[in-house]
Amino acid sequence: MSRQILDNALGAVGNTPLVRLDKIAAQEGLQCNLLGKVEYTSAGGSVKDRIAKRMVEAAEREGKLKPGHSVVIEPTSGNTGIGLAMACAVKGYSVIITMPNKMSLEKEAALRALGAEVVRTPTEAAWDSPESHIGVAQRLQKEIPGGIILDQYRNVNNSLAHEFSTGPEIIEAVVGTPSTSTKPSSGIVDVLVAGAGTGGTITGLSRAIKKAHNPRCTVVGVDPVGSILAQPEGLNTEGEGSQYIVEGIGYDFVPDVLSREPGTVDTWLKSTDEESFEAVRKLMRLEGLLVGGSSGSSLSGALRWLKSDEGKKIAQTKGANVVVLLPDGIRNYMSKPWFLKMALEAEPSPLAQRISSILQQS
Ligand code: PMP
Repeated sequence: MSRQILDNALGAVGNTPLVRLDKIAAQEGLQCNLLGKVEYTSAGGSVKDRIAKRMVEAAEREGKLKPGHSVVIEPTSGNTGIGLAMACAVKGYSVIITMPNKMSLEKEAALRALGAEVVRTPTEAAWDSPESHIGVAQRLQKEIPGGIILDQYRNVNNSLAHEFSTGPEIIEAVVGTPSTSTKPSSGIVDVLVAGAGTGGTITGLSRAIKKAHNPRCTVVGVDPVGSILAQPEGLNTEGEGSQYIVEGIGYDFVPDVLSREPGTVDTWLKSTDEESFEAVRKLMRLEGLLVGGSSGSSLSGALRWLKSDEGKKIAQTKGANVVVLLPDGIRNYMSKPWFLKMALEAEPSPLAQRISSILQQS
């Protein structure tokens, strides 16, 4: 966090903390350091603020945006939209966000509050159909004067934002934290685990870490059952095309920004809603972190990989650093049944029972 006065909200994008997840590590019997990169502390509440800011600033430099004239139109699962609406509120551009129906009401409310127009689209529409969030954005752009799609699925500034901000922040935190007898550290990022939607985060982080820091880092990608981003493709056959509840990860096409160069993502794992939500509960209850659903997918993927043949050596290596990307916060999902069930329908604790008995007596 900056200790200087910021020019505007965009100065509070990124610079997020890397936090030890010691209680989860202990519960899982891990010797390695389990570290969470907590993106909900960014100004718009997610990892996607960074790409929104970078895409808008690049378009401005290229003369593609004009205040009072340009209308930024973007298909998104919501978080890129919130980042764009925030940047456009600051800079004076109109915004239209197209977003599948499954995405939360909280995201729509935040978008509208920031002044964006929101168009909902059928969740089940194929990405290349005119009804999908991508198809609707393209139709609107053709008709609206000043309409421009910055296009997070193709824009190089998507992965570059992570290569030049998220990645270096992770590396700096790991390198800058001394190894001690109680908290040993290898001094390098040994493993990185992240989900993929556009794939910009995992591509940019992999490049930042492998090119400039540790070429031997293992990058683990997490993709929901029902999506087709994982490789080898055989991983995607089970539950192909099925709907899942977690927002922001997985697709029915491979976006250009998700690099397929060998070695960008070393291993893919599939995740289910159940294990994702269970991991969200752990992050809240054990670590006090108010993260969203896809953070649970990253964590559950990390824990599964650390138990696999490939990961179990790292799991038992004191000081090895396993970084888990936690993309957004639970405030995006508070009206979702999965969260309400978790928060409000838990078994009454002994303390809750004690409270009721005291209040019944008096
Ligand atoms: N989690 C959430 C909540 C997101 O909104 C996104 C962005 N779609 C991601 C994960 C995945 O990020 P990326 O698009 O960079 O792959």
